[in-house]
Amino acid sequence: MPRYAAVVFDMDDTVISRADAFQRYLERFYREHEALHGTPIQPALDLMTQWDCRGDNDKIEYFGKVKAEWPGLEETIDVLIDQFWGLLAEEVEPDHSSNEVLGQLNQAGVPWGIVTNGQSKMQRRKTVRAGLIPLAPFILVPSEFGDQKPSPAVFIKAVEETGSFASETLFVGDNPVTDIRGAQSIGMPTAWMKAGRTEWDGGTPEPDHQIDHIRELLPFLIK
Ligand SMILES: [Mg+2]
Repeated sequence: MPRYAAVVFDMDDTVISRADAFQRYLERFYREHEALHGTPIQPALDLMTQWDCRGDNDKIEYFGKVKAEWPGLEETIDVLIDQFWGLLAEEVEPDHSSNEVLGQLNQAGVPWGIVTNGQSKMQRRKTVRAGLIPLAPFILVPSEFGDQKPSPAVFIKAVEETGSFASETLFVGDNPVTDIRGAQSIGMPTAWMKAGRTEWDGGTPEPDHQIDHIRELLPFLIK
């Protein structure tokens, strides 16, 4: 059984449910915008969820689609994007089962941290809402230094923060490209968070682990 010296986590849909927060954001968006009410709520939410691609999208394009579908929306795309950054973060809730695992890592003295893509202010606010600030030894938001996953430099920096070597630092994330391929590019072992999907379909090399919850990794991290 492999044993890792350290671990680095993606945040959204790895240690918090971004998907649940996004649904709550959409419900609120629908409620507060009469221009959408010609479409029943479920089909409207389904459409906006589909365009979201699990958060992996350009926000100008995203809100362009929303405006094209519901031309009665009065806010400009820029205003909708600005509101989105603030409102999505406010819908984040702590994942108590994840935070318990992260606390166990701290108790065992396992070096760990978080690396999250996305807009700095929103991502930092999410870490507060999720209760991660008092837990996490480090939280990197690479957009703050003009970079993002899957850039190798981001993973190198994260490994440096742990004080371990890449080959013994596990990276855990839900995105096959930005998380898994990025970490593999500097020789890190990887765990793919399925987040509701059944099978890895990201090609080879496959991640070393496929998990439904980060607790499954504890045997590889704590003696
Ligand atoms: Mg993610």
